[in-house]
Amino acid sequence: MLSYRHAFHAGNHADILKHTVLINILESLNLKDKPYTVFDTHAGSGIYSLQDERSKKTGEAELGIIPLLREMNNIDFPESLSNYFKICELYKKHDLYPGSVEFEKIFTGKSCAHIVMELNNSEIDLLNENASRETLVSLSRDHTQVKTQVHHADGLKDILALSPPAIKRGFCLVDPSYEEADEYDKIGNAVININKKWNVAVIALWYPLLAHRIIEIEAMKKNIIACVKSRNDKTEIMDAKFLVNKEDSHTETSLKDNSGPPRLYGSGMLVINMPWKLDEKTKDNLSYIAKKIYKNESTSWSVELY
Ligand code: SAM
Repeated sequence: MLSYRHAFHAGNHADILKHTVLINILESLNLKDKPYTVFDTHAGSGIYSLQDERSKKTGEAELGIIPLLREMNNIDFPESLSNYFKICELYKKHDLYPGSVEFEKIFTGKSCAHIVMELNNSEIDLLNENASRETLVSLSRDHTQVKTQVHHADGLKDILALSPPAIKRGFCLVDPSYEEADEYDKIGNAVININKKWNVAVIALWYPLLAHRIIEIEAMKKNIIACVKSRNDKTEIMDAKFLVNKEDSHTETSLKDNSGPPRLYGSGMLVINMPWKLDEKTKDNLSYIAKKIYKNESTSWSVELY
């Protein structure tokens, strides 16, 4: 159906969780002076305007990245948030919020491979434009910028056709829009198959926390963890969750009349082949963010290892 548009949600609590984990993974890959491959199976449009009517309508960035950036004036934030803050502050000066593709470009040098996939016809032109543009800052090892390849394709099929890539060291972000109940099974199976074909890849799967989809979400995660562990029980898996509302209390801010089923009350990141100390950095990040901006009684977070 593809009705989802990330412009409504850019810079919200789910993006904060996803993009802080993403940056800490890219920083880990940059610790070694060796090229790597980055895939982003659900790219979106790459960069988002904070002045866009859709962003203003939901007000989600106003509850997320905007107040978080005010905390930059305090010097007490963890080192693991430092690059996220610096980059977002720079883009905010242009009324922009960087999407996953932009963060990947910022950290990835020209000896690496960067392939991003997007299926939606309404996003692809803007993605092509944004992907070919220079980033406002480069934090790659050699201060060069990777040449991004954009595929107008189903990311779940494309990634399997391209795995394992020529440069085997690498990372894959899987960030679907979960529009239909039957997608959870397909996404779970795709992640299992990526791990099967490309066993050294760090795979980060973002998932929503939605009261009416808890059965599907839990089944998807359980299946992924069991299959990955059955292949190699030493594979480290991190499951990080960030909740900003009670399961039954929240309706999306855009739903003025509070109608419909309960919507996103938080989200999670499942990371397979977790880089060293990602769990500790994620704990530090979420504890800081929860204390500073999502201070209500429903806010909670957890980081579990399998
Ligand atoms: N990763 C982006 C970020 O963090 O900035 C946000 C991506 S958004 C949550 C999900 C995107 O996936 C949407 O743009 C949607 O059009 C796209 N999409 C949905 N199904 C897809 C599929 N099967 N293959 C590729 N893209 C898909």
